[in-house]
Amino acid sequence: TAHASSPSTIVAIATASGRGGVGVVRASGGLAVIQALMQALCGRALTPRHAHYGAFLDAQNTPIDHGLALYFNAPHSYTGEHVLELQGHGGPVVMQLLLRRCLQAGAAYGVRLAEAGEFTERAFLNDKIDLAQAEAVADLIEASTEAAAKSAVRSLSGEFSMRIHTLVTKVVHLRMLVEATLDFPEEEIDFLQKADAFGQLDRIQTELAGVLTTAKQGALLRNGVNVVLVGQPNVGKSSLLNALAGQDVAIVTPIAGTTRDTVTQVVQIEGVPLNVIDTAGLRDTDDVVEKIGIERTWGAVEKADVVLHLVDAMQMSGEAEHIAHNNLDVQLLAELANKTPAGTPLITLVNKTDLLNDPVDAVGDCIYISAKTGAGLDDLRTRLLTIVGFEKSAGDVFIARERHLTALRLADAHVQTAYAHALTQDQKLDLFAEELRLAQEQLNQITGEFTSDDLLGVIFSSFCIGK
Ligand code: GDP
Ligand code: ZN
Repeated sequence: TAHASSPSTIVAIATASGRGGVGVVRASGGLAVIQALMQALCGRALTPRHAHYGAFLDAQNTPIDHGLALYFNAPHSYTGEHVLELQGHGGPVVMQLLLRRCLQAGAAYGVRLAEAGEFTERAFLNDKIDLAQAEAVADLIEASTEAAAKSAVRSLSGEFSMRIHTLVTKVVHLRMLVEATLDFPEEEIDFLQKADAFGQLDRIQTELAGVLTTAKQGALLRNGVNVVLVGQPNVGKSSLLNALAGQDVAIVTPIAGTTRDTVTQVVQIEGVPLNVIDTAGLRDTDDVVEKIGIERTWGAVEKADVVLHLVDAMQMSGEAEHIAHNNLDVQLLAELANKTPAGTPLITLVNKTDLLNDPVDAVGDCIYISAKTGAGLDDLRTRLLTIVGFEKSAGDVFIARERHLTALRLADAHVQTAYAHALTQDQKLDLFAEELRLAQEQLNQITGEFTSDDLLGVIFSSFCIGK
């Protein structure tokens, strides 16, 4: 591939923008370039994998900063290439000066700024990590809850990849058996029995289902669940959000290089991040800035997984089943139904039940809550987790992405088709083998054995610069 030719040396600030105690500039590439950078900035050659304290020099040999320089010789580095890391003081000006000095000192060698995710892409291309692990690097950095971070670390350490490898091994084993038989047609008849092909297929399917279940949980932890809060002013939307957040606040920090929706607030249930969108701001307006805000809110609403419709218990008329809807609710609900994917679940929450004189029996799908006392919130949490398919018992979850789920589902479909071929009277073993091959191809896409440059581009460009 194009990547086989020796790639240029890249350099970037690896730490977050802004100020910090320490900031890191990292360069990765060929030996000669990295040696030149060491000479230029540190004034000497560095011992691999040792920390060297000293000045980082500019072109006039004047110190830009003092700090630690680390040299990792290939292939014993993050990228698998020769890597130089300069740990200086974490101020934006110092970091920029160090970065520019690296570009200048390496100009003759064609050193350039790294693109987003390029260090990790090289780690992948140099077989330091597979694709699922590379993705986990970004997911770990982006994790908004402890559970998400832990599951990203599991993927990063290769747990997900191991499960995929186990599956691939089983598929390959069966494929080999079938393909060997194809050369001896007279043996086809009882081949499937002899090889316990159905038993093997069963085990592959069970394993696939298990991986898919875990991966689904991992995708939930990664993506979170988009929850839209609807209701009239004063029904208690903000209070509910605070009550849910008070229990368990997700760790939300603005991350450089990523765009975070400011209209959503993140809380968590059992480690699943809930991106809660308060529709309070959705109203007609002529104000330009507010209009932009409203457009963004609708944009977020379109990705809703669940809609929570809050009503005030005190405004219910007489019998419990008569929830008073004013025009605002009717309009908003109609518009929501229009904008959200068909079948998006809606839960009606009857709030302020602490103000009711007599306890009422919940009707239909309503959940009776009090944002004030916390009554009913556990029911709400359980219902939300059930709706999105979260399983507490899933155990050690590894983080996963939509593209992994798709590959697992397609692999499963191919295995099922293989099964169907084997069950027919005139067992079509060539078709059987072909389906197994296709299943294997899907699985290999997860770990990146066979991936197009386009896919890699999409994956790595979503990383932050310097990773
Ligand atoms: P929002 O406009 O929908 O966001 O409603 P707020 O959360 O701002 O609440 C409006 C008012 O209702 C505030 O005075 C809250 O303290 C009160 N409130 C909210 N939830 C409850 C509840 O469960 N019980 C009681 N008694 N008051 C509540
Ligand atoms: Zn509010």
